[in-house]
Amino acid sequence: MHLADDIRDRADDLIALTQALVRIPTLNPPGEHYRDICELIAARLARTGFASEFIRAEGTPGDSDRYPRWNVIARREGTRPGPTVHFNGHTDVVEVGQGWTTDPFAADLIDGRIYGRGTCDMKGGLAAAIVAVEAFLSHTPDFPGAIEISGTADEESGGYGGVAHLARLGRFAHVSAVIIPEPLGKDRICLGHRGVWWAEIETEGRIAHGSMPFLGDCAIRHMGAIVAEMEETLYPALAARRTAMPVVPPQARASTLNLNSVHGGQPELDGFDGWPAPVVPDRCRMVIDRRFLAEEAIGDVKAEIAAAIDRATARRPFSYTIRDMHEVLPSMTARDAPVSAALTRAIAERFGRAPEYVVSPGTYDQKHVDRIGKLDNCVAYGPGILDLAHQPDEYIDVEDMLDAATVMARALGDLLGVGGDAQG
Ligand SMILES: [Zn+2]
Repeated sequence: MHLADDIRDRADDLIALTQALVRIPTLNPPGEHYRDICELIAARLARTGFASEFIRAEGTPGDSDRYPRWNVIARREGTRPGPTVHFNGHTDVVEVGQGWTTDPFAADLIDGRIYGRGTCDMKGGLAAAIVAVEAFLSHTPDFPGAIEISGTADEESGGYGGVAHLARLGRFAHVSAVIIPEPLGKDRICLGHRGVWWAEIETEGRIAHGSMPFLGDCAIRHMGAIVAEMEETLYPALAARRTAMPVVPPQARASTLNLNSVHGGQPELDGFDGWPAPVVPDRCRMVIDRRFLAEEAIGDVKAEIAAAIDRATARRPFSYTIRDMHEVLPSMTARDAPVSAALTRAIAERFGRAPEYVVSPGTYDQKHVDRIGKLDNCVAYGPGILDLAHQPDEYIDVEDMLDAATVMARALGDLLGVGGDAQG
């Protein structure tokens, strides 16, 4: 049987596997049910001869006995030496949020789509990769090298308890290619991502009675001056900057800045519904999320923010601090890297056209494979519509999963050196 037909025959199985993954509510934060989903993946892959290892990322952010960061790596040896091809999917999902018309953890199949939190990002992609590998094994039991599939924690919170941890343990040292089936679209190859810098800005004031604010110094007004300065000078400058990276959506080809949160004054106490006291706030903190382009240096990105705040202090004097939280440099795998080339051929064969090469506006676990794992033969390729990620009524289209599974199975054979006729 032709590989694509074989995969099509596995549609019901693919649906059931996706549903089983989605029905485990692996919410992050805090990081629920990681062990459960690792066991499901391991049990599933044991049927086709995979040996699985469970790895807890002890000591990483959020890891505790209540919320252990469990990961699974399943490995299937070939019949002779050769390359190792690795599929990686994160198992965590983001909070549900408001606005759902379906049950987010029921994984209902409605008109060819499976609905639920994590269907698109990215349990549908992980299920497609698993079925792709199973179909490949039934067609090509005699193959060189090895196939690995990992299910990893915490991608949504930076990946430190997941792929970063595995990379630190050297788990990518022997790997030749990594495919991450994030929902970038079945005919697109995602080569990498923009850079990111998170920082916390804190303005300082002086506490006083709220009826005599002239005796204090309001830290929130200082933060307001920073925001006003950003609106007037920084946002227009960022919006005017353009990258040669093929970022999608196109609006993300500019530099962007999100003001993630602002906290000033008295805390909103849980379980307390009384009134606040009249106080001039002496501290205000704002977390910023700056996404930058391959053409921008991280040092310049930071200096630009500091310069904007300094201009704000010219409007009204105040002291401030900037605290670095997290930074990732832009990453982009070459279009002619072996993994990109194999997927390009597989997409051309499946759809009769060349893929679109894209770059993600946000980072994903490729950063850790690249920077810590020192492996640049890594891309994201998987079914689903990126815009649906983290939204209410998130879904994955079954046809898209089947197509992407066919492409992944083809590319796998290609990367193992048994492509073409060997796959029938
Ligand atoms: Zn994802």
